[in-house]
Amino acid sequence: MSVDTLVSVQDELNVYESAEARFETAAQKLNLEQGLYRYLKYPEKEITVYIPVALDNGQIEVFTGYRVLHSTVRGPGKGGIRFDPKVSLDEVRALAAWMTWKCAVVSIPFGGAKGGVICNPAKLSKSELERVTRRYTASLGDWFGPERDVPAPDIGTNEQTMAWVMDTYSMHVRQATTAVVTGKPLDLGGSQGRREATGRGLMICCDRAISKLRMKRDGCRVIIQGFGNVGSQAALLMHEAGYKIIGAADIHGAIYNENGIDIPKLYDWVYVLRMPLVEFSGGERIDAPQEILFRPCDILVPAATENQITSQNAHRVNCKILCEGANGPTTAHADSILEKKGIFIVPDILGNAGGVTVSYFEWVQDRQGFFWRESEVNDRLQDVMERSFDQVVLYAQAHGVSNRIAAYIVAIDRVARALKLRGFYA
Ligand code: NAD
Repeated sequence: MSVDTLVSVQDELNVYESAEARFETAAQKLNLEQGLYRYLKYPEKEITVYIPVALDNGQIEVFTGYRVLHSTVRGPGKGGIRFDPKVSLDEVRALAAWMTWKCAVVSIPFGGAKGGVICNPAKLSKSELERVTRRYTASLGDWFGPERDVPAPDIGTNEQTMAWVMDTYSMHVRQATTAVVTGKPLDLGGSQGRREATGRGLMICCDRAISKLRMKRDGCRVIIQGFGNVGSQAALLMHEAGYKIIGAADIHGAIYNENGIDIPKLYDWVYVLRMPLVEFSGGERIDAPQEILFRPCDILVPAATENQITSQNAHRVNCKILCEGANGPTTAHADSILEKKGIFIVPDILGNAGGVTVSYFEWVQDRQGFFWRESEVNDRLQDVMERSFDQVVLYAQAHGVSNRIAAYIVAIDRVARALKLRGFYA
């Protein structure tokens, strides 16, 4: 590979560049005023913290953490905290901007933020993870708050992490403040339906997309890459609803069965018996996890991580609908290849917005001190997702742009209108 090719591949895989490219295209199509364009292009604040933590063996390790507040124009910052060895400021910056557009696409009153700590949660003990979380939260205590910036789980963090964030913040402000963070356990002000929310939102988008393409759930072949919170919940819900899940993958490999995988059994295998997904006997074992993306199917759901579909492999994708569960699974360079293939795309900022929508419901319930039944949460989620899907697809049709660019345009327009109404505080 030549140096030039290497550099362009590196550029393609820089998620910040990918996010920027879509923002630029949408801003141009929207004829966004120069001033507003400049305002929305940059984040409001980027914070780097160095987190000294005593490991179990008594040694002190210093971890690097970030929090990027992209926008508070429409409300407090909102976005997950990622614990992963690959976390970088560029990645957090891109994810923070995506949160702004995602909250605006589904029209919930939040801005966008994201955080991360460079660490490998699989290699840290529970008490070490607790100390990393508490020190990270304490360092950012002045910036977090129910009216300022509200974190949530992301890759490598979970309900327990959110409980530690809530406790640390509460100790500092000297009052129990459940609304400072979402994705908490039910016993601590969490919401019914939050765990399934991102997967449910994906299914609602798939339902809408198949009805648009005059397809039926029954026999509709689905492949899901990623079997974590998002992928496993999407698989369970879609299996129960009648979709045929023919492929599932995690980071170690994939399972493929053209007659359909027994998803509740696979879920128990992975989450109850704690066995490796690839060793599940109900399908063909595929050791290269990415290969599952290229098997023929009706719906492909990348729900693992960024940069899975690129200019190098997009020509191999063989589906009718691509419904993005992960943030940034498709690079900007791959967009036109998929478009030429006529694939109906549900872009990430719409497809996976079910999670932040129910996070919003959780924040509302915490602030009200009044909790809703699961059916109420799910009904409200359905309303939000269906309305948002329809708005994006209608815009795309009316203006001859892709669903992805339409989603960005709808979002940028909402934030820009709010910004104009607020005016610029000098
Ligand atoms: P998770 O850590 O619970 O699960 C990630 C899954 O992806 C795991 O099964 C892991 O093994 C698998 N994986 C990782 N790299 C892979 C690879 N290269 N190939 C195949 N599988 C791979 O994370 P999650 O919460 O499910 O999040 C997944 C994605 O969805 C992330 O991009 C995240 O930002 C996004 N997202 C999550 C939520 C949420 O509510 N959790 C909401 C919106 C978006």
